[in-house]
Amino acid sequence: MSDYYNTLEVQRNATQDEIKKAYRKMALKYHPDKNPGDAESEKKFKEISEAYEVLSDTNKRQLYDRYGKEGVQGASAAGGASYSSMEEALRTFMGAFGGMGSDSIFDSVFGGGDFGGGHGGGQGARQGASKRVNITLSFEEAARGVDKELVVTNYVTCKECAGKGAKSSAGIKKCNRCGGAGQVFEQRGFFSMSMTCPQCHGEGRMIVDPCSDCRGSGLVKEKQHVKVHIPAGVDTGMRLRMSGYGDAGQGGGPPGDLYVFIQVEAHEIFERDGNDLLLDLPISFTEAALGCKKEVPSLLAHTCRITIPEGTQNGKVFRVKGEGFPNVHGQGKGDLLVKIFVETPTKLSKRMKELLEEFAQLEDATNLPTRKGFLDKIKGLFH
Ligand SMILES: [Zn+2]
Ligand SMILES: [Zn+2]
Repeated sequence: MSDYYNTLEVQRNATQDEIKKAYRKMALKYHPDKNPGDAESEKKFKEISEAYEVLSDTNKRQLYDRYGKEGVQGASAAGGASYSSMEEALRTFMGAFGGMGSDSIFDSVFGGGDFGGGHGGGQGARQGASKRVNITLSFEEAARGVDKELVVTNYVTCKECAGKGAKSSAGIKKCNRCGGAGQVFEQRGFFSMSMTCPQCHGEGRMIVDPCSDCRGSGLVKEKQHVKVHIPAGVDTGMRLRMSGYGDAGQGGGPPGDLYVFIQVEAHEIFERDGNDLLLDLPISFTEAALGCKKEVPSLLAHTCRITIPEGTQNGKVFRVKGEGFPNVHGQGKGDLLVKIFVETPTKLSKRMKELLEEFAQLEDATNLPTRKGFLDKIKGLFH
């Protein structure tokens, strides 16, 4: 069991200011935007955010000091202080530094001296957290485009209190630490620094009679059904941004976004190369030698005919124009590339062997141009 003070590398008697500074330093180091895909950093980021969430809240900190993690979990509105999801950790991070979308969070934090509230919609306004959902599509769905319904658990504005967080307007008081400004000033040497009020987190008000549904946060969790149109031609690794479908904002802040990450399943016979489709077509050696017409499967269950000319070699590729994937931006289509695989016959009957032996006697160098060229080269090597 880690200790929250150790996690943030602060003394047990650290001031709110010191705790916030320690958290800021570490959060910027371990933020997932700076360490994409690094599980160690992700774990660390969750740990420090959890520690900060508790230690930055005077009530929770007191409970923690007295009873340890158990004490905090009992009091936590979310029903547990342990951060299992990145969303929660990111929410804490955004709450601490004034909300901005995760895309621009570093600009906002590195950009200037003002980390406090007042971003994007008035004092204490915080943008809701952005979410990521993964969606797996079949090959056909990716080719055709598809409408999907996603179920996302979002924080939405509490209906009971209309997002105010208090049972009634009498339950909201001006913050006594900052006098309602949301900012406090601190003298550091010659400089006077303004910072977000640690008591009200920049909101300028305190909830003294919290709403029983949202326990003062103004937000409640709700399962939402989000309809998403996935355009034809998408591929693995693409993402769609659903603007405003993330968590609701607080204090008049805008909602976060929903990012839909796309994964396309492999197909049994087709491979994909950009917008082109690749297909291996096995044909017999007699078909290759004599030439033939073939029906080949194409995308979306229709077929197309290709003509394989006499004397076609193994590995030859035929291009069928416009039978590939549609371009995701609606500009044209890829091609279908049919690669010939000439199969040598097996399990020959006696009669077939006789015919082939007779055939072999008639065969000469002109029938096998590649071999002739090869033998000529070898001769050159030894003379
Ligand atoms: Zn305040
Ligand atoms: Zn409420």
